[in-house]
Amino acid sequence: MTEKVIEKNKGLVKADFAFWVGLYMDKFYDGFEQKKIMANKCPECGSVFVPPRKICGKCRIKLPIDENWIELGDKGKLINFTRTAYKVSDRRARKSKSLKDYGMVQIEGSDTAIVYPLIDFEENDLKMGTEVKIQWKENPSGGPSDIEGFVKL
Ligand SMILES: [Zn+2]
Repeated sequence: MTEKVIEKNKGLVKADFAFWVGLYMDKFYDGFEQKKIMANKCPECGSVFVPPRKICGKCRIKLPIDENWIELGDKGKLINFTRTAYKVSDRRARKSKSLKDYGMVQIEGSDTAIVYPLIDFEENDLKMGTEVKIQWKENPSGGPSDIEGFVKL
């Protein structure tokens, strides 16, 4: 008896998608239009979420959509990072010529983090705890790319 053969397709398929981000992320991205960071807060344990969440993982409760929203500032601290030659978004040309930095940033007042490029970072700046600030796109349109990345404070 021979082993089962699993065939794989090696080609790549390009497809464009439109998808609805849901009520909570809708509020988040609406805030981006005014260059605002909107977070939601768990009424039980007080955890603050950026990006906002529907359910608090600690308390296992659904967070009400119309309550407990707070506006946070545009400053935060680096809690993790990577320097890579690999592109995140382009699978056809995975390896780029230059190195790019990406950081996981905890916005001041939140208990979670968001990931965006780190702009103009030297290797020495890549340290946990480095204070950063959001660099907004000039004309935000209410989507994830309104944040260009983080710069050092
Ligand atoms: Zn909670």
